[in-house]
Amino acid sequence: MEDLSKLSLVEQINGLKSKKFSSIELTEFYLKRIDQEKVLNSFISLNENALKEAKKSDEKIAKNKSSSLEGIPIAHKDIFCIKDQKTTCGSKMLENFISPYSSTVYEKLSSSGTVNLGKTNMDEFAMGSSNETSFFGSVLNPIDPERVPGGSSGGSATAVAANLCSFATGTDTGGSIRQPAAFCGITGIKPTYGRVSRWGMIAFASSLDQGGIFAKNALDAALALENIAGFDEKDSTSINKKVPPFFNQAKSKDEEHVVGIPKKIIEDIKDDNVKNNFFESLDILKKSGVKVKEIDLKNIQYSLPVYYVIAPAECSANLSRYDGVRFGHRCENPKDLDDLYERSRAEGFGEEVKKRILIGTYCLSAGYYDAYYLKAQKIRNLIKQSFMDAFKEVSSIMMPTCANVSFKLNSIQNPVEMYEQDIYTIPANLAGLPAISIPSGKINKLPLGIQFIGNYLEEGNLLNLSNKFQQNSNFHNE
Ligand code: GLN
Repeated sequence: MEDLSKLSLVEQINGLKSKKFSSIELTEFYLKRIDQEKVLNSFISLNENALKEAKKSDEKIAKNKSSSLEGIPIAHKDIFCIKDQKTTCGSKMLENFISPYSSTVYEKLSSSGTVNLGKTNMDEFAMGSSNETSFFGSVLNPIDPERVPGGSSGGSATAVAANLCSFATGTDTGGSIRQPAAFCGITGIKPTYGRVSRWGMIAFASSLDQGGIFAKNALDAALALENIAGFDEKDSTSINKKVPPFFNQAKSKDEEHVVGIPKKIIEDIKDDNVKNNFFESLDILKKSGVKVKEIDLKNIQYSLPVYYVIAPAECSANLSRYDGVRFGHRCENPKDLDDLYERSRAEGFGEEVKKRILIGTYCLSAGYYDAYYLKAQKIRNLIKQSFMDAFKEVSSIMMPTCANVSFKLNSIQNPVEMYEQDIYTIPANLAGLPAISIPSGKINKLPLGIQFIGNYLEEGNLLNLSNKFQQNSNFHNE
């Protein structure tokens, strides 16, 4: 049989349809791979029913009744609730939490015929850039196991990069799909805020959180995104717009591109390798006939401080529900109600989460609300406005995904240095814009990513641009 691990999602669909292999064979193959690569620690739990699901898919395929992704194995970030299955969000707080309902993202992919392999490891409550804050231990980067895969969706990124599945779900609040995609040499897309339902996706910072996809290339990402996007009345911030055929759009020859280069940001890139890679990538795009224009993105330099007020503020509110009464971990023998709250939370949350809850509570407190939270919201609006001004002249904006390649495990102790990992990814979350990271080369064998940010609901345009880049380069196959 051919090497199943190298197959893209699209190739798998064709292989299943033409009966080159069955869903059971594909699923068995991946379960074995996951077992062989256990050291990577990319999964928190496996789905006991994976082979049963595969069998059902094979029956449907035999009867010509398949759905769009029938029989394709997938891995889900352990932030997406699945009914009657464990959903931990990488936290001791939810170590034994069995969800009573399923997230919309899971429901959609399940009704598209995917086979759930299991839940992937992640930073606790999606707070982190290295996957070192997970209660279930760090995830290793498959390209160099002494290094981090990036975070917070590091388990999903590692799973796709190590060929433990061909695609996976993730979430991106400040870069958690794009940064790990870049560190692991794969493609990752964060859609427009509201494009993908947040129902059943455990909340970190609700105005920034967005579900998305890891895949081997832009076409696979397009196909997968088509299957998770769409209006959901259960999510009040869901966008009620028809989902365009992203896959066809990604392949289309009619899509026009004027790519904006934010001059100051590019000039200020500190790492020469990252800067050179940016210009090499730009050359690839230019050769494929894409127009390029320099732009000015004002106030972008404030993105990081703005994010680290707004995200902790929202997290402090969202995580107040874990009180030892309604959800998750409960301490033993509480003296009284206060003791129950205090010890359950002290025991259940890790250091990073506690730090964010404290910062967020402080920023929202009566005396400091105007100085921090309100100010941050105002600057957030200015940042959004700069993007809107830019999109009057260009169709997308190109930046590096990260300021560096993957770093060694436990090598960053300074929290600010860790937060700076997301310097290029956070602006898109603050503005709610779609953004994608694709592989753009390597430095000493370690992958680098390039990022395209698009206008609202222009995922199709970004996927088309990324596909153009991938047609004219081979980094995504290395
Ligand atoms: N690294 C950022 C943080 O820790 C972003 C995380 C994310 O996108 N979930 O907040």
